[in-house]
Amino acid sequence: MDNQYSGDRQMFKGSWKCSKCGAEITELPFEPDGERPLYCRDCHRAMRQDRPRRF
Ligand SMILES: [Zn+2]
Repeated sequence: MDNQYSGDRQMFKGSWKCSKCGAEITELPFEPDGERPLYCRDCHRAMRQDRPRRF
């Protein structure tokens, strides 16, 4: 039985490398298509904070 369902956000497990710092990524909230750069959690957060606000 599969009763360990937690939330509706699927995580994809694997082994990728962050395009920015080269850190290992083991989990992604989306399926990588192999074309887009992947970022680790730290870089992702940093980029989000860097992004200028839109009005
Ligand atoms: Zn990184």
